[in-house]
Amino acid sequence: MSTATTHGGPQLPQERRLLTEIPGPRSRELFARKQTAVPPGIGTTLPVFVTHAGGGVIVDVDGNSLIDFGSGIAVTNVGNAAPRVVERVRKQVADFTHTCFMVAPYESYVAVCEKLNELTPGDHEKRTFLVNSGAEAVENAVKVARHATGRQAVVAFDHGYHGRTLLTMTLTAKSMPYKHGFGPFAPEVYRVPLAYPFRWPTGPDNCAEEAAAQAIDMITKQIGAENVAAVVIEPIAGEGGFIEPARGFLPRIAEFCRANGIVFIADEVQTGFARTGHMFACEDEGVVPDIITTAKGIAGGLPLAAVTGRADLLDHVHGGGLGGTYGGNPLACEAALGVLETIEQDKLVERARHIGEIMLPRLRAIQEHNPIVGDVRGRGAMIAVELVKPGTKEPYPAADIARRCHEQGLLVLTAGTYGNVLRFLPPLVIPDHLLEEGLSILEKALNAD
Ligand SMILES: *Cc1c(COP(=O)(O)O)cnc(C)c1O
Repeated sequence: MSTATTHGGPQLPQERRLLTEIPGPRSRELFARKQTAVPPGIGTTLPVFVTHAGGGVIVDVDGNSLIDFGSGIAVTNVGNAAPRVVERVRKQVADFTHTCFMVAPYESYVAVCEKLNELTPGDHEKRTFLVNSGAEAVENAVKVARHATGRQAVVAFDHGYHGRTLLTMTLTAKSMPYKHGFGPFAPEVYRVPLAYPFRWPTGPDNCAEEAAAQAIDMITKQIGAENVAAVVIEPIAGEGGFIEPARGFLPRIAEFCRANGIVFIADEVQTGFARTGHMFACEDEGVVPDIITTAKGIAGGLPLAAVTGRADLLDHVHGGGLGGTYGGNPLACEAALGVLETIEQDKLVERARHIGEIMLPRLRAIQEHNPIVGDVRGRGAMIAVELVKPGTKEPYPAADIARRCHEQGLLVLTAGTYGNVLRFLPPLVIPDHLLEEGLSILEKALNAD
């Protein structure tokens, strides 16, 4: 049974293999069906239909094997069919699929919460509860912060992305496609500047200080610090274009929050679980959030998300005030335990750093002779290039380059407020030769201009 032809996972041949054009004829047939069954609001980055995936490849219905630089948007950090995840889920599905943790609990939920309390930044006493999606985690973090502080205002940042539900799309900065036509938005959400080094008007050197001063000034003068329940921030802005806030910005904002009784919520939905070369991205500057939201990489693709934070905040909410029917489903909890074992035993935090050490120098070398590469940035296996029209900072559309990569069998994602960022999120288990081959494809795609 466990041959490459019947299973996904790391035993799939780790090779790029193009048998047809991309997408091939079977994928095109299926895509035509998709277009009549599914609304266009559900977009498609690369219309190949998948049969297997694992290690660093995705295999499609036409037999093509593509190099994966996307991990299903930073989800399959441990791979798409990681053996420890598969084993645990297989056993669990045969034992029981659901009881509802709020009706009759089970151990795996508690074990996931204990692990997150231990692994997230800070030695203080913590609590965790589980939900289904990143957006749900962020919504719940805000609920807890409002309840515990008795305040209403929530501060989010330029270029932020926090989800697609009413509150989280309100927290999200970018109108098209996330907010356009979906208003009215949730009240009491305020937006302040983010320290975006590449685009800071006075340049990167004073960016952290100036951006923090502006953000704090807006909070104190326009909202009133005493009215603010929470500040919600991604330690690296994901959908916004992998913007690493200039060093010093995050600690300054966290310190301001502490001094003013504001709950500092780190949204680590995209940056978490070894992705950036730390278990969580906040660790890079030693920032300890009051609440941290996690999802994406947490359970290898099974729907799971978590809210972890200071015990005094989370314990503030009355019994029955939090939860949901499926939150912490037993299959997803087993998957999360398998993910955490895999990260630890296969040393994936170190592996993420190794991926960055391969990718960053090659991308910087490309930047030296290719003027459309305006900026190369990122940490660990969360890397991006920001594209510009040569000699300017005007955005160059990343989708054009992404399409060329896709045609050559390299799956890359785009991002950015200006749609001009190519982002790379390879599974942490991708073999080095596929990383190198993917970078060569990317280099050609960039140079073709
Ligand atoms: C993806 C993402 C979300 C939303 O997660 P969903 O599971 O899609 O609801 C929230 N915050 C960040 C930073 C994300 O990257």
